[in-house]
Amino acid sequence: MSAAVIAAISTPCAPGGIGVIRISGPGAIQVADRVFHSASGKTLSQHKGYTAAFGSVWDESGPVDDVVATVFRAPKSYTGEDVAEFSCHGGLLVTRKVLRAVLAAGASPAGPGEFTKRAFLNGKLSLTEAEAVTDVIAASSDQALRAARSAMKGALYRKIKGVTDSLLSVSGHIAAYIDYPEEEIDPVESAETAEILDDAERQLRDLLDSFDRGRILREGVETVIVGKPNVGKSTLMNLLSGCPKSIVTDIPGTTRDVVEETVNLDGVLLRLADTAGIRETSDVVEKAGVDLALERLDTAGLVLAVFDESSPLSPEDHGLLDRLEGMPVVAVCNKADLEQKIDIEFIKSKFQYFVEISARENSGLEALRQEIVSLLELDGISAEGAALANARQFDCARRAWTLLKEAIDTLKAGYTLDAVDVALESVISALLELTGEKVTDAVVDQVFSRFCVGK
Ligand code: GDP
Repeated sequence: MSAAVIAAISTPCAPGGIGVIRISGPGAIQVADRVFHSASGKTLSQHKGYTAAFGSVWDESGPVDDVVATVFRAPKSYTGEDVAEFSCHGGLLVTRKVLRAVLAAGASPAGPGEFTKRAFLNGKLSLTEAEAVTDVIAASSDQALRAARSAMKGALYRKIKGVTDSLLSVSGHIAAYIDYPEEEIDPVESAETAEILDDAERQLRDLLDSFDRGRILREGVETVIVGKPNVGKSTLMNLLSGCPKSIVTDIPGTTRDVVEETVNLDGVLLRLADTAGIRETSDVVEKAGVDLALERLDTAGLVLAVFDESSPLSPEDHGLLDRLEGMPVVAVCNKADLEQKIDIEFIKSKFQYFVEISARENSGLEALRQEIVSLLELDGISAEGAALANARQFDCARRAWTLLKEAIDTLKAGYTLDAVDVALESVISALLELTGEKVTDAVVDQVFSRFCVGK
């Protein structure tokens, strides 16, 4: 059964300069022709792929808007199918009216992510590349965008494919050796096989290890600013939120309903609890000295512990120092513009990550960023490298890695090659599920349900 022609508004549901209505499927260009009156008189069906035509879209009551129609011919389109796109004026009503005309002409409304799903089903994208499309759209920092683009260009797919291919060659060799004893197939050397499997295991482990750091790049790190009253927490907070390189967005918390301010510190996203939350924290500090908002600290991926350089360490500071033991802390000695009275060497001896700043004079922010990058180990990971981007991919990779460890143990324990091969097949199957080459419809539906309509 051939796919239906689907259509949707691909631009945001908000007024803008241009609105795009995308139509895809076998017959999409004919559907477009039913509503398109070209200025030149040439129908879209007479156009080659990658061409555009000016004209207007009409519905049953007359012209709706002037549009530029773009024609893409299968398989050279986003979906791999015939595609026509109308670029009209970006008003809410006008885009809807154009869509309505297209639906009346025979298209069905596209579901969330249905264009990208078709691209996946038509082999234009692997599942990981398709998933990266949503990450490109959601990216709110340069790093996140670079990482998503790199995934969209297939970095993860190629990495997984490399591992899968090497495992397939081992598995194929074992199967051939077992199944065709009469043929002159090279015996399977355990040491050589173990080396290939160990290498694959290492690659998967690296990917799993980098997942958390990749997530920090994409989603930011939950950050808490603590310190006794008057050390400059609010000033620092304001400086961070107001720094010229920062974009401040409202992202509803994923686990709870807190609105967070995401500060982009030159590519490093810090998810700071909203100012009210921070004030609340400092209230608690005020009331109970160093009795910090512990539940926030417990879940924080980064703590900025602020001290006032211009006064000696107080009992409250010492209490804070004790409390922060073992936490991911950057010690921030503020008010570096004033005479230093704090025992700076003592602070340095307590924290691996340390920086002196003057929040008031806006100095030391780059050094602070550097310390944060070091603490979060963001240095080593390149946004261009292959990285797991979501829980589904992580789950497949972890399953593959666990099964591969079992296969290696089976091999090294001297079990029959049959047993090794069975284990390897499960590993390969988990990896094919990751890239989407062997995946259930339910998983595919789940992946694309996260998309917006029109993508
Ligand atoms: P909080 O109670 O920790 O939030 O501290 P605030 O941010 O409200 O700052 C307390 C006082 O310290 C204010 O008067 C700030 O202007 C001042 N302050 C903050 N940062 C600096 C700094 O870097 N240098 C100097 N000299 N004063 C600062």
